[in-house]
Amino acid sequence: MSDSSSKAGMSHDRRRFLKMGAGAIAAVPVAALVGGRVAFAEDLPKLDEADPSAVALGYKHDAADVDTAKFPKRTGAEGEKQLCSNCNLYQGGDAEWGPCAIFPGRRVAGPGWCNAWIPMQG
Ligand code: SF4
Repeated sequence: MSDSSSKAGMSHDRRRFLKMGAGAIAAVPVAALVGGRVAFAEDLPKLDEADPSAVALGYKHDAADVDTAKFPKRTGAEGEKQLCSNCNLYQGGDAEWGPCAIFPGRRVAGPGWCNAWIPMQG
């Protein structure tokens, strides 16, 4: 057991770890760094409607509760179809709650809405 082979092993492990770390960062849509550790989507806390960033964008867990006087984007027949679950920034798939690119590290409700809504692509 030579010291040099041990160091070489550590170096290889370090490179492997760094590659895995890059992979973990690339996987942010399904996981995020929370409190210095990787958290999977289902572990992320739900976005608080009272969070200042949520308030600024008029986010509500239930899109029917959106203040359409302040956020007229969600008025009319087309506006009423807008939900987090059909927003291009929603990363929850068919899940009831999922990550959103606008509110990193938290989950939003599929039936929710905010003023950053954009139509699902494809
Ligand atoms: S950006 Fe889209 S998915 Fe995110 S909170 Fe707003 S409407 Fe929902």
